Amino acid sequence: MHTITTKPWKLSEAVENYAQHGIGGVSVWQDSAQQLGARKSGDLIRKNGMEVVSYVRGGFFPHSSKAKRDKAIEDNKKMIDEAAELGAPMLVLVCGAEPAQDLEESRKQIQGGIESLVNYATQNKVQLTIEPLHPMYADTRSAINSLEQANCMAEAIDSKWVGVAVDVYHLWWDPNLEKEIYRCQEHGNFSAFHICDWNVPTTDLLLDRGLMGEGCIKLQQIKNWVAKSGFNGFHEVEIFSEKFWKLDQNEFMDKIVKSYSNYWES
Ligand code: ZN
Repeated sequence: MHTITTKPWKLSEAVENYAQHGIGGVSVWQDSAQQLGARKSGDLIRKNGMEVVSYVRGGFFPHSSKAKRDKAIEDNKKMIDEAAELGAPMLVLVCGAEPAQDLEESRKQIQGGIESLVNYATQNKVQLTIEPLHPMYADTRSAINSLEQANCMAEAIDSKWVGVAVDVYHLWWDPNLEKEIYRCQEHGNFSAFHICDWNVPTTDLLLDRGLMGEGCIKLQQIKNWVAKSGFNGFHEVEIFSEKFWKLDQNEFMDKIVKSYSNYWES
Protein backbone atom coordinates (compact mmCIF):
# COMPACT_ATOMS: atom_id res chain seq x y z
CA MET A 1 0.00 0.00 0.00
CA HIS A 2 1.08 3.53 -0.76
CA THR A 3 0.21 5.66 2.25
CA ILE A 4 -1.23 8.34 -0.04
CA THR A 5 -3.97 5.86 -0.99
CA THR A 6 -5.49 6.38 2.46
CA LYS A 7 -4.40 10.02 2.71
CA PRO A 8 -6.78 11.01 5.54
CA TRP A 9 -5.06 8.52 7.88
CA LYS A 10 -1.99 9.50 9.85
CA LEU A 11 0.82 6.95 9.50
CA SER A 12 0.17 5.35 12.91
CA GLU A 13 -3.48 4.81 12.02
CA ALA A 14 -2.64 3.56 8.53
CA VAL A 15 -0.08 1.05 9.80
CA GLU A 16 -2.51 -0.39 12.34
CA ASN A 17 -5.26 -0.77 9.74
CA TYR A 18 -2.97 -2.13 7.01
CA ALA A 19 -1.65 -4.78 9.38
CA GLN A 20 -5.19 -5.81 10.28
CA HIS A 21 -6.02 -6.19 6.60
CA GLY A 22 -3.01 -8.42 5.88
CA ILE A 23 -1.02 -5.89 3.86
CA GLY A 24 2.57 -7.07 3.35
CA GLY A 25 4.41 -3.84 2.59
CA VAL A 26 4.12 -0.08 2.76
CA SER A 27 5.42 2.63 0.44
CA VAL A 28 5.72 5.74 2.56
CA TRP A 29 4.96 9.17 1.12
CA GLN A 30 7.00 12.02 2.53
CA ASP A 31 4.00 13.78 4.10
CA SER A 32 2.99 10.71 6.06
CA ALA A 33 6.51 10.28 7.46
CA GLN A 34 6.25 13.72 9.10
CA GLN A 35 4.09 12.54 11.99
CA LEU A 36 6.73 10.28 13.58
CA GLY A 37 9.85 11.06 11.56
CA ALA A 38 11.44 8.62 9.12
CA ARG A 39 13.21 6.33 11.59
CA LYS A 40 10.23 5.77 13.88
CA SER A 41 7.91 5.37 10.89
CA GLY A 42 10.07 2.55 9.54
CA ASP A 43 10.30 0.88 12.96
CA LEU A 44 6.54 1.01 13.40
CA ILE A 45 5.92 -0.58 9.99
CA ARG A 46 8.37 -3.42 10.68
CA LYS A 47 7.07 -3.92 14.22
CA ASN A 48 3.66 -4.51 12.68
CA GLY A 49 5.04 -7.27 10.46
CA MET A 50 5.25 -5.29 7.22
CA GLU A 51 8.13 -4.26 4.97
CA VAL A 52 9.00 -0.73 3.95
CA VAL A 53 8.80 -1.01 0.15
CA SER A 54 9.80 2.49 -0.95
CA TYR A 55 9.98 6.16 -0.03
CA VAL A 56 8.00 8.49 -2.28
CA ARG A 57 9.00 10.81 -3.89
CA GLY A 58 12.17 12.54 -4.96
CA GLY A 59 13.12 13.92 -8.36
CA PHE A 60 12.01 17.20 -9.99
CA PHE A 61 15.46 17.77 -11.47
CA PRO A 62 14.88 20.04 -14.51
CA HIS A 63 14.89 23.80 -14.14
CA SER A 64 16.02 26.57 -16.41
CA SER A 65 18.06 28.08 -13.57
CA LYS A 66 21.23 26.36 -12.38
CA ALA A 67 20.59 27.47 -8.78
CA LYS A 68 17.25 25.63 -8.82
CA ARG A 69 18.86 22.52 -10.32
CA ASP A 70 21.47 22.57 -7.55
CA LYS A 71 18.75 22.99 -4.95
CA ALA A 72 16.96 19.94 -6.39
CA ILE A 73 20.11 17.85 -5.86
CA GLU A 74 20.31 18.99 -2.24
CA ASP A 75 16.61 18.21 -1.71
CA ASN A 76 17.12 14.74 -3.17
CA LYS A 77 20.09 14.08 -0.88
CA LYS A 78 17.82 14.89 2.04
CA MET A 79 15.22 12.48 0.68
CA ILE A 80 17.91 9.78 0.33
CA ASP A 81 18.86 10.38 4.00
CA GLU A 82 15.23 10.02 5.03
CA ALA A 83 14.80 6.88 2.91
CA ALA A 84 17.84 5.36 4.63
CA GLU A 85 16.47 6.26 8.07
CA LEU A 86 13.14 4.75 7.11
CA GLY A 87 14.89 1.58 5.96
CA ALA A 88 13.43 1.95 2.45
CA PRO A 89 15.39 0.15 -0.27
CA MET A 90 14.43 2.74 -2.87
CA LEU A 91 13.47 6.36 -3.41
CA VAL A 92 10.88 6.70 -6.18
CA LEU A 93 11.62 9.58 -8.56
CA VAL A 94 9.01 11.76 -10.21
CA CYS A 95 11.64 13.16 -12.50
CA GLY A 96 10.18 16.59 -13.28
CA ALA A 97 9.88 18.80 -16.38
CA GLU A 98 10.43 22.47 -17.06
CA PRO A 99 7.81 23.94 -19.43
CA ALA A 100 10.15 26.79 -20.39
CA GLN A 101 12.53 24.40 -22.16
CA ASP A 102 12.12 21.46 -24.51
CA LEU A 103 11.63 17.94 -23.22
CA GLU A 104 14.97 16.74 -24.51
CA GLU A 105 16.76 19.38 -22.43
CA SER A 106 14.71 18.37 -19.40
CA ARG A 107 15.67 14.72 -19.99
CA LYS A 108 19.36 15.64 -20.09
CA GLN A 109 18.99 17.47 -16.81
CA ILE A 110 17.16 14.50 -15.29
CA GLN A 111 19.93 12.12 -16.32
CA GLY A 112 22.57 14.56 -15.07
CA GLY A 113 20.72 14.93 -11.76
CA ILE A 114 20.45 11.19 -11.22
CA GLU A 115 24.10 10.64 -12.19
CA SER A 116 25.24 13.22 -9.68
CA LEU A 117 23.32 11.37 -6.94
CA VAL A 118 24.40 7.80 -7.71
CA ASN A 119 27.40 7.82 -5.37
CA TYR A 120 25.36 9.30 -2.55
CA ALA A 121 22.57 6.77 -3.12
CA THR A 122 25.10 3.91 -3.22
CA GLN A 123 26.68 4.99 0.09
CA ASN A 124 23.24 5.09 1.67
CA LYS A 125 22.08 1.84 0.02
CA VAL A 126 18.98 3.53 -1.40
CA GLN A 127 18.12 2.86 -5.03
CA LEU A 128 16.96 5.77 -7.21
CA THR A 129 13.88 4.47 -9.01
CA ILE A 130 12.78 6.27 -12.17
CA GLU A 131 8.99 6.27 -12.56
CA PRO A 132 7.83 7.19 -16.08
CA LEU A 133 4.65 9.29 -15.97
CA HIS A 134 1.75 9.48 -18.44
CA PRO A 135 2.44 12.04 -21.22
CA MET A 136 -0.33 14.30 -19.88
CA TYR A 137 2.16 15.20 -17.13
CA ALA A 138 4.98 16.14 -19.52
CA ASP A 139 4.37 19.84 -18.83
CA THR A 140 5.65 20.03 -15.26
CA ARG A 141 5.80 16.60 -13.63
CA SER A 142 7.92 14.41 -15.85
CA ALA A 143 9.75 14.47 -19.16
CA ILE A 144 10.09 10.66 -18.85
CA ASN A 145 6.81 9.45 -20.30
CA SER A 146 7.32 5.88 -21.48
CA LEU A 147 8.90 2.76 -20.12
CA GLU A 148 11.26 2.80 -23.10
CA GLN A 149 12.61 6.22 -22.05
CA ALA A 150 13.02 5.07 -18.45
CA ASN A 151 14.75 1.86 -19.57
CA CYS A 152 17.11 3.77 -21.87
CA MET A 153 18.05 6.14 -19.08
CA ALA A 154 18.56 3.41 -16.47
CA GLU A 155 20.68 1.41 -18.93
CA ALA A 156 22.74 4.48 -19.83
CA ILE A 157 23.45 5.23 -16.16
CA ASP A 158 24.15 1.52 -15.62
CA SER A 159 24.20 1.24 -11.85
CA LYS A 160 22.40 -1.29 -9.68
CA TRP A 161 21.46 1.72 -7.54
CA VAL A 162 19.25 3.05 -10.34
CA GLY A 163 16.04 1.22 -11.29
CA VAL A 164 12.60 1.72 -12.78
CA ALA A 165 9.02 1.75 -11.40
CA VAL A 166 6.25 0.46 -13.67
CA ASP A 167 2.89 2.08 -12.91
CA VAL A 168 -0.11 0.81 -14.89
CA TYR A 169 -1.85 4.19 -14.66
CA HIS A 170 0.98 5.87 -16.54
CA LEU A 171 1.86 3.13 -19.01
CA TRP A 172 -1.23 1.05 -19.90
CA TRP A 173 -1.73 2.80 -23.27
CA ASP A 174 1.77 2.07 -24.59
CA PRO A 175 1.93 -0.39 -27.55
CA ASN A 176 5.51 -1.25 -26.51
CA LEU A 177 4.64 -1.98 -22.89
CA GLU A 178 4.98 -5.78 -23.03
CA LYS A 179 8.36 -5.64 -24.76
CA GLU A 180 9.65 -2.91 -22.41
CA ILE A 181 8.52 -4.80 -19.29
CA TYR A 182 10.65 -7.79 -20.35
CA ARG A 183 13.56 -5.50 -21.22
CA CYS A 184 13.31 -3.77 -17.83
CA GLN A 185 13.53 -7.07 -15.96
CA GLU A 186 16.24 -8.53 -18.24
CA HIS A 187 18.51 -5.58 -17.49
CA GLY A 188 17.88 -5.88 -13.75
CA ASN A 189 16.06 -2.54 -13.62
CA PHE A 190 12.49 -3.62 -12.74
CA SER A 191 12.22 -2.41 -9.13
CA ALA A 192 8.57 -1.56 -8.45
CA PHE A 193 5.10 -2.24 -9.81
CA HIS A 194 2.20 0.12 -9.04
CA ILE A 195 -1.46 -0.71 -9.69
CA CYS A 196 -4.84 1.04 -9.79
CA ASP A 197 -7.22 1.66 -12.71
CA TRP A 198 -8.12 4.37 -15.25
CA ASN A 199 -11.69 5.56 -14.76
CA VAL A 200 -13.93 6.20 -17.79
CA PRO A 201 -14.69 9.03 -17.95
CA THR A 202 -11.84 10.43 -15.90
CA THR A 203 -13.01 13.51 -14.02
CA ASP A 204 -9.61 14.74 -12.80
CA LEU A 205 -6.20 14.15 -14.36
CA LEU A 206 -4.52 13.71 -11.00
CA LEU A 207 -7.03 12.76 -8.35
CA ASP A 208 -9.45 10.34 -10.00
CA ARG A 209 -7.68 7.00 -10.06
CA GLY A 210 -9.91 3.95 -9.77
CA LEU A 211 -9.82 0.69 -7.86
CA MET A 212 -8.45 -2.28 -9.76
CA GLY A 213 -11.18 -3.58 -12.07
CA GLU A 214 -13.20 -0.35 -12.16
CA GLY A 215 -11.67 1.16 -15.27
CA CYS A 216 -10.35 0.32 -18.72
CA ILE A 217 -6.81 -0.92 -17.97
CA LYS A 218 -6.29 -4.54 -19.03
CA LEU A 219 -4.79 -5.36 -15.64
CA GLN A 220 -4.78 -9.13 -16.10
CA GLN A 221 -2.79 -8.82 -19.29
CA ILE A 222 -0.22 -6.51 -17.70
CA LYS A 223 -0.08 -8.71 -14.59
CA ASN A 224 0.68 -11.70 -16.83
CA TRP A 225 3.48 -9.83 -18.61
CA VAL A 226 4.96 -8.82 -15.27
CA ALA A 227 4.81 -12.44 -14.04
CA LYS A 228 6.32 -13.70 -17.30
CA SER A 229 9.16 -11.18 -16.96
CA GLY A 230 10.16 -12.82 -13.67
CA PHE A 231 9.50 -9.75 -11.49
CA ASN A 232 8.47 -11.03 -8.06
CA GLY A 233 8.19 -7.86 -5.97
CA PHE A 234 5.11 -6.27 -4.44
CA HIS A 235 2.10 -5.24 -6.50
CA GLU A 236 1.62 -1.85 -4.85
CA VAL A 237 -1.79 -0.22 -4.62
CA GLU A 238 -1.40 3.49 -5.37
CA ILE A 239 -4.69 5.35 -5.73
CA PHE A 240 -5.08 9.13 -5.57
CA SER A 241 -8.80 9.79 -5.37
CA GLU A 242 -10.75 12.74 -3.98
CA LYS A 243 -13.82 10.52 -4.14
CA PHE A 244 -12.33 7.74 -2.01
CA TRP A 245 -10.61 10.13 0.41
CA LYS A 246 -14.07 11.44 1.30
CA LEU A 247 -15.19 7.96 2.38
CA ASP A 248 -14.69 6.42 5.79
CA GLN A 249 -11.19 5.00 5.17
CA ASN A 250 -12.09 1.65 6.76
CA GLU A 251 -14.86 1.30 4.23
CA PHE A 252 -12.39 2.24 1.47
CA MET A 253 -9.88 -0.28 2.82
CA ASP A 254 -12.48 -3.06 2.48
CA LYS A 255 -13.03 -2.05 -1.15
CA ILE A 256 -9.28 -2.11 -1.79
CA VAL A 257 -8.84 -5.56 -0.28
CA LYS A 258 -11.78 -6.90 -2.31
CA SER A 259 -10.55 -5.43 -5.60
CA TYR A 260 -6.98 -6.59 -4.91
CA SER A 261 -8.20 -10.14 -4.19
CA ASN A 262 -10.17 -10.20 -7.45
CA TYR A 263 -7.14 -8.85 -9.28
CA TRP A 264 -4.80 -11.37 -7.68
CA GLU A 265 -6.99 -14.43 -8.11
CA SER A 266 -8.28 -13.90 -11.64
ZN1 ZN B 1 3.23 5.13 -9.18
